[in-house]
Amino acid sequence: MDFNLSAKQINLQSLARVFARENIRPRAKDLDKNPDPSQSWPYDLFEKASKLGLRTLKIPKEFGGQGIDTLTELIVLEELCVGDISFGSSLAHPWREGLILASATTNEQRELFLKPFLEDHNAMTSIGITELHSGSDNATGYDKELKAGSMTEAIYDGSEWVLNGRKIFITAGNVAQFMLVVARTNKKVSWKEGISIFIVPTNTKGYQCIRVMDKLGMRVNPNTEVVFTNCRVPKINLIGELNNGYSILSKYGASSKVKEGVKSLGAARAAYEEALNWCQNRHQGGKKLIEHQSIAHCLARMAGKIEACRSLCWRAGWSIDHDPINAIPLQTIAKIETCEMAAKVAVEALELFGGYGVLKEYPIEKIARDAITMLHTTGGQLALTSSLAEQLNFITKKNE
Ligand SMILES: Cc1cc2nc3c(=O)[nH]c(=O)nc-3n(C[C@H](O)[C@H](O)[C@H](O)COP(=O)(O)OP(=O)(O)OC[C@H]3O[C@@H](n4cnc5c(N)ncnc54)[C@H](O)[C@@H]3O)c2cc1C
Repeated sequence: MDFNLSAKQINLQSLARVFARENIRPRAKDLDKNPDPSQSWPYDLFEKASKLGLRTLKIPKEFGGQGIDTLTELIVLEELCVGDISFGSSLAHPWREGLILASATTNEQRELFLKPFLEDHNAMTSIGITELHSGSDNATGYDKELKAGSMTEAIYDGSEWVLNGRKIFITAGNVAQFMLVVARTNKKVSWKEGISIFIVPTNTKGYQCIRVMDKLGMRVNPNTEVVFTNCRVPKINLIGELNNGYSILSKYGASSKVKEGVKSLGAARAAYEEALNWCQNRHQGGKKLIEHQSIAHCLARMAGKIEACRSLCWRAGWSIDHDPINAIPLQTIAKIETCEMAAKVAVEALELFGGYGVLKEYPIEKIARDAITMLHTTGGQLALTSSLAEQLNFITKKNE
């Protein structure tokens, strides 16, 4: 395991860092303040990021992307999320969905769907898994439970697929050009054996985004509720084999959990950098805050926790490409520990700002809200801990 970064990794890291510092961070606070989250999508920032190549990083080179590995993906994502975790999270969607479009499809599908996606710098993607009754299910298993997982149904009527159902929490369902919809194509078996993935352009009749959800934090990442009513798509919009959705999600979304950790790492760094700057400039008792020993210790612990979690995330990311069996528990650990660390570090940073910490005009309260929101993604901390206990063979698999 060698974490000496290559020239390419350093270049991409620096590109993302500069883009985050110069373009994302100065806008993040105002975008967050918008009372109507449906109006917060930064089209111009997204287009600019795309023109720098930051939208198509995971697509293999032979299909027009940069084909980066998992470690590079994590390095870039951390930098973007220091700028704003919402924007970084949104931009990481076309990495995964673009990879599926390029690698799990036929030549004919690539021509139909990947080509226009690559040509349009504004083309955003989304993935619809979560439903009202099933959130953590999808991150934690329930291998034999027929009532777990997606219930949105796709039925083939002899010429087209007809989708009916409802998805919730879906990032960018309001601004994406298409959604990869996880739908049940066999209800007689568990969701893992009976789901398929469909490409549904968001201008298809029967696709309706009914709301953009108003959240505590990560307000620039638009979470949406979407309804499918007799939403018809051609036969060719089925990706891969019928009922093979779970293996596509597992293969091409292999880094999903550790990416949640790295996004939080970005938020923790933003909180730490703001707190450090504040403590180097704010005076109490006739000296800078950082010259008070307990405050210096607090900042040093924050820096240490961030460094420790980065090592954990990088190891988990490296393992995905080189040691996939050990990567499974490692990335669950990386998600749980880093999200928890970031929420704690952000609240400590808030405290270092004193009364100013809770004022909306200062940067730190937004970062704390963002970091806390990350405790609720990809199954949440409790469900993931239950999943980890299974991965470590402490308890038997759910419903087995
Ligand atoms: C910012 C954000 C972005 C998102 N983006 C998307 C997206 O793009 N696409 C998408 O499909 N979904 C998305 N989601 C949805 C997300 O994956 C779910 O919200 C998450 O999986 C939790 O599901 P839930 O909200 O239904 O909570 P529930 O599953 O109802 O969980 C409630 C609580 O119970 C705990 N719990 C559940 N099961 C167990 C168990 N077996 N053992 C112990 N504890 C358990 C959970 O950890 C949680 O604390 C997003 C969510 C957020 C907040």
